[in-house]
Amino acid sequence: MRLYGKVCVVTGASRGIGRAIAERFVAEGAAVAIGARGRGALEAAAKALAGGGSEVLARPVDVSVAASVQAFADAVLARFGRADVLVCNAGVAARARVVDTCEKQWDEVVDVSLKGTFLVTRALLPAIEAARGRVLVISSIAGRQGTAGSSAYCAAKHGLIGFARALTEEVRQAGVLVATICPGSVDTEMLPPEFHPGMPAARVADVAAFLASEAPRELTGSIIDLFG
Ligand code: NAP
Repeated sequence: MRLYGKVCVVTGASRGIGRAIAERFVAEGAAVAIGARGRGALEAAAKALAGGGSEVLARPVDVSVAASVQAFADAVLARFGRADVLVCNAGVAARARVVDTCEKQWDEVVDVSLKGTFLVTRALLPAIEAARGRVLVISSIAGRQGTAGSSAYCAAKHGLIGFARALTEEVRQAGVLVATICPGSVDTEMLPPEFHPGMPAARVADVAAFLASEAPRELTGSIIDLFG
């Protein structure tokens, strides 16, 4: 029960990696707040998580829209009064060569991953600082290497590392640990069939649970490559 008494917020937790992280946090005794856009999948995830005996708040959010994020953060703080761990996980991918990438695709990928992480962090950081808590950013192997046909995704995921590096320095004195996880292929809906099989989402959750709990604060600023 490494997270007993903690309030953990996970974006993009209706399925895939975010849901696996939320499940692990519940297994470790945390209360969790989860967000995603689709209400049906979010409510199904919340129902399953509540079976683990923890308090669960599920609230629809579009992380790329500031007003939606503020309403999500307000709901979390109204319900729990605190936030100890934030996992910025929501993301979308698009596959197209640069010359075939339209502006809308570029904006969606960058706005959800990069701007979304900024907006959610901005909204919840005062609470995380008050708790001397932790912020985990889910980047990707695409934040470490380039892949043809993934320019928007690679740009957003590289950008997240820069964001986390700056954030690390801003909150160091407040005792907040910031860490970035860069998974390789993970078996979720996002992974194109040609990359299957990847690792189970539970492997990412293992690392997230460690970083959210007993990882020493000296690990702040770490970028964890989870692609072997
Ligand atoms: P996934 O199965 O497609 O799940 C994505 C989650 O994010 C869903 O809950 C989705 O729900 C939510 N989401 C998408 N857009 C959102 C928005 N605008 N606002 C709020 N929530 C939103 O993807 P995944 O594979 O678990 O990916 C999770 C994270 O891990 C992403 O950041 C991804 O880039 C990263 N990652 C994935 C892999 C991989 O191989 N799968 C590898 C490295 C990194 P709604 O659509 O209902 O909003």
